[in-house]
Amino acid sequence: MQNQSMHFKQRAAAAAADRALQAKLGTAKALFVTGRRRAVADLDLEATRTASQAIRDTCVADLDLWLERFETEATRRGAQVLWARDGAEICRLVIDIARRHGVKKAIKSKSMLSEEADLNAALEAAGVQPVETDLGEYILQINGNERPSHIIAPAIHKTKEEVAELFERVHRKPRKTDIGQMTREAREELRAHFLSAEMGISGGNFLVAETGSLALVTNEGNGRMVTTLPRVHVVITGVEKVIPTLEDLATLMRILPRSATGQTISNYFSVLTGVKRPGDTDGPEHLYFILVDNGRIDLLGGDFQPMLRCIRCAACMNHCPVYQTIGGHAYGWVYPGPMGSVLTPLYVGIENAIDLPQAATLCNQCGAVCPVKIPLPELMRKLREQEVERGLRPWGERAALALWGWLARRPRLYALAAKLGARTLKWQAGGEDRIRVLGLAPSWTAGRDFPAPEGRTFRELYAERKSR
Ligand code: SF4
Repeated sequence: MQNQSMHFKQRAAAAAADRALQAKLGTAKALFVTGRRRAVADLDLEATRTASQAIRDTCVADLDLWLERFETEATRRGAQVLWARDGAEICRLVIDIARRHGVKKAIKSKSMLSEEADLNAALEAAGVQPVETDLGEYILQINGNERPSHIIAPAIHKTKEEVAELFERVHRKPRKTDIGQMTREAREELRAHFLSAEMGISGGNFLVAETGSLALVTNEGNGRMVTTLPRVHVVITGVEKVIPTLEDLATLMRILPRSATGQTISNYFSVLTGVKRPGDTDGPEHLYFILVDNGRIDLLGGDFQPMLRCIRCAACMNHCPVYQTIGGHAYGWVYPGPMGSVLTPLYVGIENAIDLPQAATLCNQCGAVCPVKIPLPELMRKLREQEVERGLRPWGERAALALWGWLARRPRLYALAAKLGARTLKWQAGGEDRIRVLGLAPSWTAGRDFPAPEGRTFRELYAERKSR
């Protein structure tokens, strides 16, 4: 997917002014945030978060060993494990597999890595028809290959009415107003694709090393159809998704659906192992795992290694006041919200996403709800430090901070400057309690007023109080 993160400010400003978008995001917030709160009530949340963090840390610390074990076990059960360095290699491998098996149509279950690789465009160019089967992804695909705006609810930015209008136009059937009826209509449309596709492509929530299995968490059942009906199944997932044992999977499954959708367990949970055996009624004859780096390996051993714990639950974005205001498209790449503000600069280069680490208030709601305790605000702060060290911030900001640093090392001058500043701002407020336009920093007051200062500095007030 083409990175648009450099235009974050403009996109965020447009989204922040879109009241209809905020109404839609408000509904989702109520659903996910309230749902999560209810769902974790019966859990020893802190103990489960600690255990989940420990499992993910264990995997990441010895990633090479667990990946080797996974490869051995998956291969023993008839699968083939392939490795991709980047999006271009993912596309090349999938197209090779499609050609080898004479595939003309591929049905897909949701995979964020296929978004990273822009796989649908590559498949189409190679003469293979990709069909998204997750309802949200399907809606976006038939609406001109629109991009997801949320990692687990891709069409969260659409209303029921917008989807009804889209279905009427694309399916050429009378408009439905009831969500159940619309879902049935989509199912009817998709059924023919499920039955005629030669290949299924899915992501993976976890890879279990001890059994070579894929764990898939879905709510619509499309994942099962994609992974069992076609004769070829291709799993595309990041290398960091491997976990050691089925017992670890049980622990993580206590926290993933609760954090993601507020469910104690998702509607469908599949553990898929190996190819179809003699006597099996369904399952793929050919199973491929494409395990992808695309920037992940570079995080090992560095400040940002904790990000590899991420289990893509979306709790951080559901609870983020910035995401709740601007939605996912403003972030400009595959991953929105706080996890995207960290991952995108790491994957596409910090110089290509310089505003994303700033796209947070550092209120730590994200860190507090993350089921694997990723310190997201701390990681954003580290990225901000890197931006300063590499001279990537705008010159005005750098000059202002350099001036502040110079003054801060000269206490008398600093006190004088603070006094002058407080008096000037009070004068600018002209007796009002707010300043509508800040002279030297007008962008600060573009979206809110600046509280007028009292007129004296903290030092002056402190000295006055001490002398009483
Ligand atoms: S960073 Fe944490 S909260 Fe956000 S998606 Fe990843 S695991 Fe979930």
